[in-house]
Amino acid sequence: MRPLFWRLMKNQHRSWSIARRLFGISLLLIFLQSVISTVVTAQLRRHFFNEFLEETLSRQIVSSYNVISNRLDQMSVDEAYSCCSIEDYRSWLEGLSFENGKVALIIGEAGLQATRDADRFYEITELSRYAKDAIASSTGFTVDEADEDVPLAVQAVKLPGGVETGFYVYIRPVYSMPLVRTLMQIKLVSELVLMLALAVALLVGLRLVFRPVRRIKSELARIELNQLESADLSSRDRPREFQPLLQEFNGMVGRLRRSSADQKQFASTISHEFRTPMTVISGFIQSVLNRDENLRAQSRDALVLANREVLRLNRMLSDLLDLSRSDNNQLKVLREPFDCLASCNEALRLAQIAYPNNPIVLEYCGLNQPVYVIGDSDRLIQCLKNLVGNAVKYSELRSEISLEINAQDDSILFTVKDHGQGIPADQQERIFERFQRADGVTLRRGDSSSGLGLSIVKMLMEGMGGTVRVQSEIGVGSRFILTLQRSLS
Ligand code: ADP
Repeated sequence: MRPLFWRLMKNQHRSWSIARRLFGISLLLIFLQSVISTVVTAQLRRHFFNEFLEETLSRQIVSSYNVISNRLDQMSVDEAYSCCSIEDYRSWLEGLSFENGKVALIIGEAGLQATRDADRFYEITELSRYAKDAIASSTGFTVDEADEDVPLAVQAVKLPGGVETGFYVYIRPVYSMPLVRTLMQIKLVSELVLMLALAVALLVGLRLVFRPVRRIKSELARIELNQLESADLSSRDRPREFQPLLQEFNGMVGRLRRSSADQKQFASTISHEFRTPMTVISGFIQSVLNRDENLRAQSRDALVLANREVLRLNRMLSDLLDLSRSDNNQLKVLREPFDCLASCNEALRLAQIAYPNNPIVLEYCGLNQPVYVIGDSDRLIQCLKNLVGNAVKYSELRSEISLEINAQDDSILFTVKDHGQGIPADQQERIFERFQRADGVTLRRGDSSSGLGLSIVKMLMEGMGGTVRVQSEIGVGSRFILTLQRSLS
């Protein structure tokens, strides 16, 4: 069975990125390291007190204890046994010097007897407690850390002698404690700084490691499907690990390029080959409709319908042809001055013929003399026809469509406005792509849609050095705005 930690990382946090996992694991390791180091330091500290201090203290206690044993050695056995009263011990110890607050105590049946100055440093109750702790411990040694600033090391040895005698207790403040604490603080701070530095280094490291990935990602995002010719990713200056990936990607782009070229060639051939027969069929239908006045109403209706469909197919074919010419850089779009008011009038006239059921109005917005723009008159008319067609298609029957012309700075704006369904905000960009239709926009029965019209408008407007954009609100309507550069001549 796998460890819990591993399962957590794998299952519960499936959405974690590699970078986050790496970062988390590193922080966990750093944290573990600091816990282990704290435990080890605490152990070392304990060792220092118990081993080192005990040894030092024992050496010191022996020297003062020797004073007492020397005295006892000078007595006979009987004298020694009847000895020694606490007064004796006191007088023997009088001669000893206790430096650095060292304290000697005699503790026996007579109770605790602090030697000279002992009660100046400590309360009698404290002294008693230290002494009892030392006597009770198996080694006679104890460290009292209750007072953080000056912890005490206490050593007790049993005294020979009479009933009043008991233990000789030696207390010593551990002055090295502040040093130990400072060292501990330095260690803690340095560990925190190290952790922080490691976290920063890890973040910077991860950013560096993932920089090539980010660069490739942004290059991939810039690739346009209709510009596959320049879609290859260069493998120069890339880490070695990415080379196979880049080769695979470039191979895939190559395959896509070939397939796209085949498709374009196919569309171009089909459009070419179909257009002539379509024109012939349409011509024949038209001439039958014009010449034969004795046609039955049913046959006439059928022929009118057939003609409409042929014309629609023809429009689609010329759209496809335009697109494939543009893909092959063969589409001719002029960039020359022309009177856009005249073009708008022509577009209006054609639209009114094509959509007799809808009131279509043209608003000049104060522009009443020839207004020259840079572009291609026929192509502008084509764009406006396309937009008016859409406005009719996606609005209620007999809904009003308006075409406004405005001047703005150095540009002329042509706005086709409808009161139709409107386009959802998240679809307003993609409707300019080939074969894309807006989700949620419905087509009236009998109307057809290829998803090509707006991509052609965009292509033509860009060809003329202009732009197209849309403003739309669901249930209110849409405004498609074309912009062309104004010309002074
Ligand atoms: P088509 O109309 O043949 O589908 P277009 O490229 O002209 O292709 O339009 C793309 C899509 O944009 C349409 O399918 C429709 O969903 C949406 N659209 C275009 N014009 C309008 C409009 N005036 N009102 C609402 N939706 C529109």
